[in-house]
Amino acid sequence: MQREFMLICSYCDEYTLLGCYLPKQGRFQGEHSIVHNRHLESDALLCKFLVAHVGHPVRLVPDRTDEYTSALARLTRFAEDDIDRYVLEAKLAAEAHSRDREFDQGLGQLQLLILRQMLNHEAETVSRTPSLREADSQFLLGKQQALEWAAQTVEEIIRKGSPRPGREPA
Ligand SMILES: [Zn+2]
Repeated sequence: MQREFMLICSYCDEYTLLGCYLPKQGRFQGEHSIVHNRHLESDALLCKFLVAHVGHPVRLVPDRTDEYTSALARLTRFAEDDIDRYVLEAKLAAEAHSRDREFDQGLGQLQLLILRQMLNHEAETVSRTPSLREADSQFLLGKQQALEWAAQTVEEIIRKGSPRPGREPA
């Protein structure tokens, strides 16, 4: 089981909960809201705490220790009245960000589908253009091949760019 941490200022007798350290994201889970059953998922409150206690003796304390347990019971929780609101705001911002990303991806795919349609249409038009001279027909054939190549390239981009179902937003 991963350890959770708290940061304590022994000068002010105040603490802030950091949750577990997430090495991949390079941050802590952040303060926890029981109301929203969720961590802050950022170091925003940790940074506020550090700035509020600049020059004070601040210590990182792991859970399942006497100091951690006694701090929970004895010390003041930093910004306690704002934690639920911060966590809710962070949650809403994360959801909005994820919606924006999905929207942008969808829009990008739509633009590519339209482009592919246009290229295919143009290639077909060129292939049906009658030409009297040999030079003209060579030119039209080249143009048709170029358009088909472009349509194929767009097709590949569409296939590679499709969002995989169930993929978590980063
Ligand atoms: Zn302090």
